[in-house]
Amino acid sequence: MKLQTLLPTRAPAMADLVLGPMLGKPVMAYYYVTYKCNARCVFCNIPDGPMDVLPVSQYSSKEQTLEHLDILKELGVRLIDFTGGEPLLRKDMGFLLGEAKKRGFRTQMTTNCTLYPKRAKELQGLIDILCFSLCSPGPEPHNTLRRDNSYDSVIESMEIARRLGEPYQIIFVLTNDNADLLPGMIDLCREKQAILKIQPEWEYFGNDGVDIKNLQKARDVAREKNVYVNWGELRVFEAGGNRAEKPACRAGNAVLAISPDGYLLYPCYHKIAQRIKFDRNIISFFKTDRWKQMQDKAGKFKFCDDCSNLCYIHPSFYYQFDRNFVLSALADIRYMKERHRIERQRRKSLAVEALAAG
Ligand code: SF4
Ligand code: SF4
Repeated sequence: MKLQTLLPTRAPAMADLVLGPMLGKPVMAYYYVTYKCNARCVFCNIPDGPMDVLPVSQYSSKEQTLEHLDILKELGVRLIDFTGGEPLLRKDMGFLLGEAKKRGFRTQMTTNCTLYPKRAKELQGLIDILCFSLCSPGPEPHNTLRRDNSYDSVIESMEIARRLGEPYQIIFVLTNDNADLLPGMIDLCREKQAILKIQPEWEYFGNDGVDIKNLQKARDVAREKNVYVNWGELRVFEAGGNRAEKPACRAGNAVLAISPDGYLLYPCYHKIAQRIKFDRNIISFFKTDRWKQMQDKAGKFKFCDDCSNLCYIHPSFYYQFDRNFVLSALADIRYMKERHRIERQRRKSLAVEALAAG
């Protein structure tokens, strides 16, 4: 029996990421289902960025998407992060997640929660890592930072997901406007039985990014209950990001990015040097020296210097054994333990509530 088949279906992403280098394959894919979004977060340019010119009419058809899932399976991908934009703007999200689960993928999705309460039932059991975005313990500055008035929906979504037994966690983008609110965020996440994943805001489209001095606030709470901070990420961030001459980012090796219209975005969504049609030809292309050279070049482009895009850098840590590998592994092991503890706590409280309800 293969090692990966022994892992529980809902084991967190780290198990997949660590298997990548062992299997010599990219094991994670960012599948961009849309670039559209009903929010306008100050730290994101996806819905107004250069790619949003893509008309929805050019998005992959249902048949093409199913073929993409089959190809990803053949390539050895284990975890698909269905991302955007706001994934729940896609009416067929439940279908896509269900097809991914049928094929044995582990699934991840991040939502701004504006549409989750209405769709929760339909998505139940289809997402292994369900991330809700929340920027403050109270409505402000969350609603201002996200420009979508979604605070109440996030709070409601946590309660719905808890009752449905869904594996939810909070993604907290650490900015200069909310760094002082970390203690309140931790209290809220404990009350709502959620993990708080602290993700520093990085610059990539002219936004400032969080000041290095505010990272210390994340470091200070990294060992607290309900908190997940990746020490490898902090280290890269504090050092000013990726270095082209000695890259921390191994996008292409660790992670594949697929666009809504069915192209592999190389090396990553944020800096596209090449778009390659994601059809069956890619399976043989991945065996060529040309692709190996391209994999080797990822993280080494001029534009990769100073990049702190942790979505691609975090999975990359497991592709070379160095200090980042160790720091990230320690943080991720801690995350897995916390996640199991919180899931046990949720199950217990649901059982007590069911008993009390008779
Ligand atoms: S909700 Fe997500 S995709 Fe939409 S603007 Fe905010 S960060 Fe970007
Ligand atoms: S370093 Fe940044 S720009 Fe370069 S491939 Fe990685 S994520 Fe993309």
